[in-house]
Amino acid sequence: MNIVLFGAPGAGKGAQAERISSMYGMVHLSTGEMLRSAITSGSDLGASAKETIDQGNLVPDDVIVKIVDARMDEGDCGEGVILDGFPRTVAQAKALDDMLAGKGLALDHVIEIKVDEDALFARIEKRALERRRTGTARSDDNADTLRKRLAVYHENTAPLLPYYLEKGVLRSVDGMRSIEDVATQIDNLLG
Ligand code: AMP
Repeated sequence: MNIVLFGAPGAGKGAQAERISSMYGMVHLSTGEMLRSAITSGSDLGASAKETIDQGNLVPDDVIVKIVDARMDEGDCGEGVILDGFPRTVAQAKALDDMLAGKGLALDHVIEIKVDEDALFARIEKRALERRRTGTARSDDNADTLRKRLAVYHENTAPLLPYYLEKGVLRSVDGMRSIEDVATQIDNLLG
């Protein structure tokens, strides 16, 4: 089973993807995490992506598509993947369709974690504070970048909703409930 977990920054995709991955034995593929580890390892990819990420902008489609494509070719992805943070543009979604078709795979579900727009900023700020407190702060955890990431979501990523709605694979859960409740809603969808 291959799933896209979709939602604005702060919707809680990471936590749900982690849980689904361990529960259903699927690979959790987070493009944000892949980029952050590329930065930590000092690779060329990391060096070229760091400024873009720190500014809250999107890394170019061709760069992201290439790293996802390469990761999907690794053996462990054969049992299914849960994509978190990818695709983020319609061009990436189309590339994903082609990529899956080329590997003889299909996209089974796109699960949108729906959150109240007004609650988002407070939610991401709280999460950033918590990361600072525990020494796991991200370099894109400041207020300006958070604002930019939300704007980028609206402009580039939200248009994926009608794209997937038309394909008939989009399902939504109420992301304003507790983590456990959101998890139950997702489990019900996955049946
Ligand atoms: P995330 O951890 O998913 O919030 O991603 C952190 C940052 O990595 C984003 O703000 C982007 O700069 C970059 N990034 C992650 N995934 C993508 C993607 N699919 N396309 C472009 N940029 C991405």
